Amino acid sequence: MRQSRIKTLAITIFTLGAIILMTAATSDNNYSKSNFVSAESSETLLTKPVLTAKLKKSSLKLNWTKAENANEYKIYRSKKKNGKYKKLAEVTADTLTFSDKDFKGERKTYYYKIKAVTRSGESVEHTYSNTIKKTVYKRKSKVHGVTYIDGILIANKTYKLPKTYNPGTNSKAYKAFQKMQSAAYKDGISLFIASGFRSYSYQKSLYNSYKARDGKEIADTYSARAGYSEHQTGLAFDINNPSSTFDNTKEAKWLTKNCTKYGFIIRYQKSKEKITGYKYESWHIRYLGKSLAKKVTKSGKCLEEYLGITSEYKHR
Ligand SMILES: [Zn+2]
Repeated sequence: MRQSRIKTLAITIFTLGAIILMTAATSDNNYSKSNFVSAESSETLLTKPVLTAKLKKSSLKLNWTKAENANEYKIYRSKKKNGKYKKLAEVTADTLTFSDKDFKGERKTYYYKIKAVTRSGESVEHTYSNTIKKTVYKRKSKVHGVTYIDGILIANKTYKLPKTYNPGTNSKAYKAFQKMQSAAYKDGISLFIASGFRSYSYQKSLYNSYKARDGKEIADTYSARAGYSEHQTGLAFDINNPSSTFDNTKEAKWLTKNCTKYGFIIRYQKSKEKITGYKYESWHIRYLGKSLAKKVTKSGKCLEEYLGITSEYKHR
């Protein structure tokens, strides 16, 4: 029942949400206080975030008001009002400015939607949406200094993460790993995370120790400088034994063959060293979600090739 009510509400808001929101922004602020849907008493009440946008000559800024009890905001974009919405970002901040510095003046109509999400217990979600129609083309976006290409969070030698970006292990990625671990166990394969989320400061000390041991040039082929590590995203795991001795083990073979099914890719592939910027790492997996992981794996490309981006330090 509630699902359909939410749907009805979403559609209503959907219909309302358009360019007019830009001018209606101030009145919407008052409106949001009284506009919540009552849920069971054991559940929290989630108010509606009001999305507004400002289109400037070379950027689009999305702002929204805080939604009471929201754990997370998800931002989506679609070319058609009733088309498929693609996720651009997932953030926990209450408000933020989302600007596109790469906007080159293409005039395309996109629809933006924001969802405020809360969790009651394990899996109950309340979502509210709001849509904005804008004429903008955007491919690359930065949210709090974190780069998204086509909505995919990227950390490599070209795209740095802020020092303050400290999200911990991504819960979806971890759950996906647990599923994969159980499946592997049934095949007589034991998988565990040897190294998962790493903070900026931890990565810094790690890289510095490698640099002291092997020199900068060699360290750069297998370890990321602070801020450039995929481990800082919470979406990457090193499985069992982060060393080339893992390469031809039955665990490594199982991982290569099966990780895609659970939403992971082998991030640094053999023969892609020049593109990814790293040596082959049979143990390093990156969570992308099932459908994207399948697409990337099927393409035979590494993530950089798939997205058409580079992975190179500005300073050697
Ligand atoms: Zn790794």
